[in-house]
Amino acid sequence: MAIQGGWAFCEKCYGLFYNGYEYKGKCPAGGDHKQPQTGMGYNYQLNHSIPGNQYSQPQWEFCVKCHGMFFNGYSGGHCPKGGKHERNEQAYHFVLKHDYPQLYSNEQPYWEFCTGCHGLFYNGFTGKGRCPGTPYAIRPGGDRVHMGSHGRQPNGYHFVLYVGDYISPPAYKLMTKCAWPPNPSKCPGY
Ligand SMILES: [Zn+2]
Ligand SMILES: [Zn+2]
Ligand SMILES: [Zn+2]
Repeated sequence: MAIQGGWAFCEKCYGLFYNGYEYKGKCPAGGDHKQPQTGMGYNYQLNHSIPGNQYSQPQWEFCVKCHGMFFNGYSGGHCPKGGKHERNEQAYHFVLKHDYPQLYSNEQPYWEFCTGCHGLFYNGFTGKGRCPGTPYAIRPGGDRVHMGSHGRQPNGYHFVLYVGDYISPPAYKLMTKCAWPPNPSKCPGY
């Protein structure tokens, strides 16, 4: 098993992006992706280079254009840089855990595949971020700002990310209203 840290939640688009480079990648909400300094400012640690199984899905990839995480198992998808997301042939193949019956205290649930852009986004808030698969406006200077939000696949997997260490806060606390697996009638994300 191999693990790569340095992945982050973007407070602007609600997607997962790689935060380990100086350039943070193109955000569909405009400008670059941005990790929050509080709240969701975790350093997510992702498994890669292992086979998938009943509770883990392979074919998740880093996009060299937008620095976001996307699912490469379907054709299509949309990159905020334009066109489709694109992987580096030499890059890791990530394997994401989902729907495991037990949730551990260092794991964060409510991550979902977006049918619009094929990215991974956090679905635990009422707002659904900004999706590069939706219409956009061009700002002065040429920056693309997408207007619509991410959308989950109705019968899609519920992904869980490992919060190995953190910037803040000390540990993830499960939203008691949402529970695990997510309760659609009570969880704002579902
Ligand atoms: Zn972003
Ligand atoms: Zn991309
Ligand atoms: Zn999306």
